[in-house]
Amino acid sequence: MRIGSGWDIHRLEEGATLVLGGVVIPSAKGLVAHSDGDVLIHAIIDAILGALAKGDIGTHFPDTDPRFKGASSVDLLDHVVTKLLPPYSIGNIDTTIILKEPKLRPHVDSIRYSLADLLEVPIDHVSVKAKTAEGLLGELGTGDAIEAHATVLLTIKG
Ligand code: MG
Repeated sequence: MRIGSGWDIHRLEEGATLVLGGVVIPSAKGLVAHSDGDVLIHAIIDAILGALAKGDIGTHFPDTDPRFKGASSVDLLDHVVTKLLPPYSIGNIDTTIILKEPKLRPHVDSIRYSLADLLEVPIDHVSVKAKTAEGLLGELGTGDAIEAHATVLLTIKG
């Protein structure tokens, strides 16, 4: 078994699209980033690469590379899972999203199903928790940023 952790943060702006775990979330503010800015998937990719001791998301998908401009994070995660992960597979994953609004609770199961599909694991191996910064912590508190944390356990296929 191997364990890894990942973290990511992105700025939110009016009119941009909010995508989390590959799911579009109705929101007044969305993600501003080089790719589609899916912070949750970015944190998960870093957790998987961390567990593998294979660098980080910037190592494999540099934001200076025009091939990844506007890239779908789902495609990046698919590359990691199919090309870099073997002979390991995902054991379970636990994530936390910190976001002021919209409230994510109604969307948590959609995000879990999307991630379970991408990570090729049963739904009960995928945890997605959502919380606010309680009005504190600068841009996270004012709703101008979103942060995601991920912890993943890998197991060897056998
Ligand atoms: Mg990112």
